[in-house]
Amino acid sequence: MTRRAAVTRREVLRGVATTAALAGAGRVALAAPGPEWDTIVVGAGVFGSWTAWHLRRAGQRVLLLDASGPANARASSGGESRMTRTIYGADDVYTKMAWDSLADWRWLSSRAGLPVFHPTGVLMFFGRREPFVDQSIEAHKRLGLRLDVLDRAEMQKRYPQIAWDGVEVGLFEPDLGVLMARRAVQTLVQEYVAAGGAYRLAAVMPPGDAATLDGVRTREGETLRAERYVFACGPWLPKVFPSLLGNRIFPTRQEVFFFAPENGDDRFEPGRLPGWADFNDGDIYYGMPDLEGRGFKIAHDRHGERFDPDTGDRRASESGLSDARAYLAKRFPALAARPLAESRVCQYENSSNGDLVIDRHPRWANVLIVGAGSGHGFKHGPAVGRYAADLVTGTRDQPEARLALASKGEVQHREVH
Ligand SMILES: Cc1cc2nc3c(=O)[nH]c(=O)nc-3n(C[C@H](O)[C@H](O)[C@H](O)COP(=O)(O)OP(=O)(O)OC[C@H]3O[C@@H](n4cnc5c(N)ncnc54)[C@H](O)[C@@H]3O)c2cc1C
Repeated sequence: MTRRAAVTRREVLRGVATTAALAGAGRVALAAPGPEWDTIVVGAGVFGSWTAWHLRRAGQRVLLLDASGPANARASSGGESRMTRTIYGADDVYTKMAWDSLADWRWLSSRAGLPVFHPTGVLMFFGRREPFVDQSIEAHKRLGLRLDVLDRAEMQKRYPQIAWDGVEVGLFEPDLGVLMARRAVQTLVQEYVAAGGAYRLAAVMPPGDAATLDGVRTREGETLRAERYVFACGPWLPKVFPSLLGNRIFPTRQEVFFFAPENGDDRFEPGRLPGWADFNDGDIYYGMPDLEGRGFKIAHDRHGERFDPDTGDRRASESGLSDARAYLAKRFPALAARPLAESRVCQYENSSNGDLVIDRHPRWANVLIVGAGSGHGFKHGPAVGRYAADLVTGTRDQPEARLALASKGEVQHREVH
């Protein structure tokens, strides 16, 4: 039997690729002294899955747990598609993370039956040449990354399906594009299990405030023990650590719409339209071409109201739909009256300023917290997982200040876009 056949994708996603199944497949040694696992990773979204993957690659015995399955419908990683870009203004840290992640995304794409990465290119455009534009150009020069500066006439020539009124300049990244989010995470977990990692469907109870953490308890009452623990619970982190993160991570309601272009109209297909973001004087809209027939995607990047990832209403609002149509009328007029093909409500899990969190729990040195993707985290998954794994294994001593818990405030003032 081949390794891939031993534990099928369906088994993984149903949560039956348990320790026993994997041991049966001859890949996991169960009779280890001390705790059964080197590291338990709680949360199989993009951050937890890449962390588990890198830990497994480092030779660890890793157990990955998720309450509802990898990239499930309520997870932030559970959407259809996510943009990957390196344009971050002066923010080298995220430009580098996005770039460093790209090779891993390409590798994952080569492993999946359908693309994980669509190299559509990414275009960001601006009403005026604001500092963010020049900072992004400088950052790309510094790092030796390709970035094309387009004037309005050039954008008009390349993309006549967009109404360019009021736009002065665009930045085009030919090497970047769109990631198929749910497919990416589920493929990665499959690869991780095939590489000897263990995955289980299990909800972990909040660990409370004990002096030490030497096990996690599941909702069924089972205690699972490891040397170290990683909590990558996305928008659930404030519920898992209420006293530490209840006021430091702010989940917000975000609506996404997919519109069906006219039958036979190929102007919104990848190849004719890249991933795009309109900075629109700071009131950002972004979207993606009609990938894999799902429709042209559009979202307003404004933070919505506070959202509970368990109980929040996931029906898109009429006001959100009208807002999307009004924007389309201005910028993508051929789509303004087209039928809505699909809508989704997801949540951002924002830190106070948009910086990610990759840091040890202040009381428990054997616990790492990874999260606060803040609406831009997906693309960084591979680099975040590597960084987290390095902190777990001790390859890296401390996180840099921007990623540390201590730098996270309790009042929102978004700075990272
Ligand atoms: C609408 C929208 C658009 C976005 N667009 C982009 C984009 O274009 N580009 C980009 O880079 N990023 C984008 N993002 C951000 C990105 O999707 C997130 O930052 C990222 O997916 C967060 O991943 P995560 O692993 O932290 O969380 P999640 O994906 O939510 O994963 C957390 C997991 O933890 C599990 N869990 C929680 N609590 C427990 C528990 N107690 N026990 C067991 N399991 C538990 C959950 O079931 C879940 O699967 C967007 C986000 C949204 C919502």
